Amino acid sequence: MNPEGVELQGKASKTYHQLSICDLQEGVEASVKGCIVQLTKRNPVYDTCPACKKGLDKEKRCPNGHNFREPNHSMVFNCVLDDGSGTISCVFFGKNAESLIAYPAKMVIDKVNELGVEGFVKLKEDDLLGMELLVSGKVVHNTFSDRTELIANNFQQINPIIEAKKMLGKT
Ligand SMILES: [Zn+2]
Repeated sequence: MNPEGVELQGKASKTYHQLSICDLQEGVEASVKGCIVQLTKRNPVYDTCPACKKGLDKEKRCPNGHNFREPNHSMVFNCVLDDGSGTISCVFFGKNAESLIAYPAKMVIDKVNELGVEGFVKLKEDDLLGMELLVSGKVVHNTFSDRTELIANNFQQINPIIEAKKMLGKT
């Protein structure tokens, strides 16, 4: 596949080169196009310090020692993308996670309370598995999980109808 410039709308609008997943290397910023083949079973909402945005420890305290009345709720969502050349774990934070899950953080909290983490992920699998995405971001090595991950800066859902029309136009 030839790398092509892909322009995406977003906060930091910039051009990413589209690469095959097998060609991704640590530190590279790129776009990949693939299907969601797996969701990570973990709670997408976690508590953070309102002052420094750090994740809280087990006692719900800020690691930097800030005091606060109520923590902020932050979102992170992981899924595995497959483009035929390989797979990569993609990480979506904040608004990207909310827009991929299609729920605001508050609703995720309610749903996880109602269904549990496993139940919630199962519910979302129905919507998300097989969905084709164009994800742009930075390839990093997660030392904690010892995996290579794509941290999404931006993503688009590929509309299968538009894609099909493009292919018809080419022939
Ligand atoms: Zn803090």
